[in-house]
Amino acid sequence: MKIPYNLILVGPPGAGKGTQAKRLQDRHGLCQISTGDMLRAEVNSGSPIGQQARAIMESGGLVSDEIVIAMLETRVQQPDCARGFILDGFPRTERQAMALDTMLARLGQSLDAVIELKVDEAALVDRVAGRFTCAKCGAGYHDRFKPTRVPGVCDVCGATDFKRRADDNRETMVARLAAYRSDTAPILPHYQRQGRLHAVDGMADMDHVAAEIESLLA
Ligand code: ADP
Ligand code: ADP
Ligand code: ZN
Repeated sequence: MKIPYNLILVGPPGAGKGTQAKRLQDRHGLCQISTGDMLRAEVNSGSPIGQQARAIMESGGLVSDEIVIAMLETRVQQPDCARGFILDGFPRTERQAMALDTMLARLGQSLDAVIELKVDEAALVDRVAGRFTCAKCGAGYHDRFKPTRVPGVCDVCGATDFKRRADDNRETMVARLAAYRSDTAPILPHYQRQGRLHAVDGMADMDHVAAEIESLLA
């Protein structure tokens, strides 16, 4: 694998982007950049960006391109991204995809792979409805598909506090899936034309998906 290695994980909400991004981060020392996590941190801190983003995120819409592009630009230049980055949840619109191309050209970097996680829509609602994370270390779990080994205790750090996202409910999922179909799916042909797009069966179990991604990175 060349260094830096830059990749995009793309897929609808609940497809497994965060789960796989964390594994890639641990295995290859790449930095995981989740614009959703960054925005949730802004909301929690009550910053001006957070105040602007909060209602949009709660309704399942997309935060403005200007805000997320600016956040990304700062983040990719931080030292922990020196070996490369995994974009998890960015780009989500054509404008974001264009801005990323421009930004990478300016930084003298390239995009090495775009991995699309394909999951049936019916399965996505169950995925997000059962999702929870460790409040201390951020490890991701699922009520049915990835419970903690000891009930109520984080496998990774032993903490006992967990959180669920306000937007992980059936009603908001309808809007989030609609945003994926109308704004995000249309950017995939751009990467297809560049020969960088690889589709992975995201319905398989997590280890299987990880192995398939791994085989594409060579
Ligand atoms: P995304 O970042 O794409 O929204 P996540 O990685 O957070 O998705 O996964 C959504 C939920 O589904 C989480 O609770 C996660 O534990 C679970 N999950 C992830 N990948 C799989 C898989 N291959 N099979 C079953 N459940 C999965
Ligand atoms: P998921 O992986 O479940 O789709 P994310 O954590 O990536 O969720 O995003 C949560 C919410 O944050 C989105 O519904 C959207 O409101 C906002 N968001 C995250 N990334 C972007 C982005 N690149 N552009 C616009 N809005 C974004
Ligand atoms: Zn933990």
